[in-house]
Amino acid sequence: IPRVRFAPSPTGDLHIGNARTAFFNWLYARHFGGRLILRIEDTDQERTTKAFEDNLLEDLKWLTLDWDEGPEREGSVGPYRQSERLALYESFLKILIKEERVYPCYCTEEELELERTALLSRKIAPRYMGKCRNLTLEERRRLEAQGRKPTYRFRVQPGTIAFQDRIRGLMRFEGEAIGDFIIVRSNGIPAYNFAVVIDDHFMEISSVIRGEDHLSNTAIQLMLYEALGFAPPEFAHHSLILGKDRTKLSKRHGSVSVREFREKGILPEALLNYLALLGGSIGEGREVCPVEEIIAAFSLDRAGKSGAIFDEDKLVWMNSLYIHNESPNALKDKLLPFIRKAGYDANSLESQWLDRMVEVVQPNLATMTDIGPYLVMLASEGFPIEEDAASLLQEKDSQAVIRALLPLIEEGDFSREDFYPQVMTRLRNVTGVKGKKLFMPVRAALTGSTRGPELDRIFSLLGRQSVTARLSKALS
Ligand code: GLU
Repeated sequence: IPRVRFAPSPTGDLHIGNARTAFFNWLYARHFGGRLILRIEDTDQERTTKAFEDNLLEDLKWLTLDWDEGPEREGSVGPYRQSERLALYESFLKILIKEERVYPCYCTEEELELERTALLSRKIAPRYMGKCRNLTLEERRRLEAQGRKPTYRFRVQPGTIAFQDRIRGLMRFEGEAIGDFIIVRSNGIPAYNFAVVIDDHFMEISSVIRGEDHLSNTAIQLMLYEALGFAPPEFAHHSLILGKDRTKLSKRHGSVSVREFREKGILPEALLNYLALLGGSIGEGREVCPVEEIIAAFSLDRAGKSGAIFDEDKLVWMNSLYIHNESPNALKDKLLPFIRKAGYDANSLESQWLDRMVEVVQPNLATMTDIGPYLVMLASEGFPIEEDAASLLQEKDSQAVIRALLPLIEEGDFSREDFYPQVMTRLRNVTGVKGKKLFMPVRAALTGSTRGPELDRIFSLLGRQSVTARLSKALS
């Protein structure tokens, strides 16, 4: 059965580009009935934190991207954190040393920096020139006696490395351009490429699906597969998500982490749907697509061949469609944390009122955080008056409409379903005003805004007392 993996480094919040990689792997596993392995690449001790790892797992769960093996789901090829696999890497380092496929390098950071600048000034692409490649045993001893701790470098053979990428076709790299690369640092910690090859091999990964920014790493990893005598997996490098300026999406483009979108009130299913849309994983002409259908339609042939430009407005639009399609009850449950964040205690709001309130504003919500301003507008009398509403309310005609409406509100039977249309018809007859000129002042007085949910629903949600109070307050 196919085995794929998502291998994040917990050095920051989950970027939506990485979330998309996770999604592709998850789709692949679910489409082909394979297994998704989650591996935590936590060898960068300076930048890795436990909090980032916890957040990462939480974000994946929130996105409903479940893994079959990994942290919290131990399988037979664990442990699934690289920091717990150091002995394994070390044993293979020993083998490669013995076979002279790697050698110790004693160059200091400063020396390497000098080499880099010297090459750059001669317009040569910087790479390690192999100063320590052929040191004698004696020379090594002398350097070690100076207290230098070696890194271990792979002896790159000249020649071409070619592989068939599942998405991009035949890829070729020249060994000469790569230079002897480090596989283990002077502190004994394995470099990314070395650990990944050993892990992908022992975790029995059949397809490596990741971003195209890893293409040159694949060339390096293939050399290691060969040296270690492991059969390489299939590789598929998808394109990256780009900002509007067509550069790789990063913080300077705005929100980029899953966490930020979650806090902004984006629903996980909308985010996944949008990512699938970006990646071209949905057939032509379709936009909203339930995840079951995205799984069924998934194919690497379509998965992100060309760079996709991230458009937050489109994501919010997609989100609004998901919000509008929710059942009011399910939506209310999802809104609870946002109600709390807006400073309201859902328990102290009357529960029937809250149910109705959610139903009334549902068509107007684009994100879950939009519930906040509507609560302020509808649950309390201290709601703000927007500028255009305020100036509308100052007009003489508006004042006349509101003054005429007040006694009509006092009289009729508020609990009747047709109270609102009846009262507005009477208002029209009494004032001789109709259309926008009739409705807008009422809307502005009741909500402080010139836009919002249907007026008839606002009427019944607010009730007679509040409607009367709001209208009176709008009279100057
Ligand atoms: N830890 C690497 C990253 O987050 C994994 C790359 C890979 O999938 O091999 O970029």
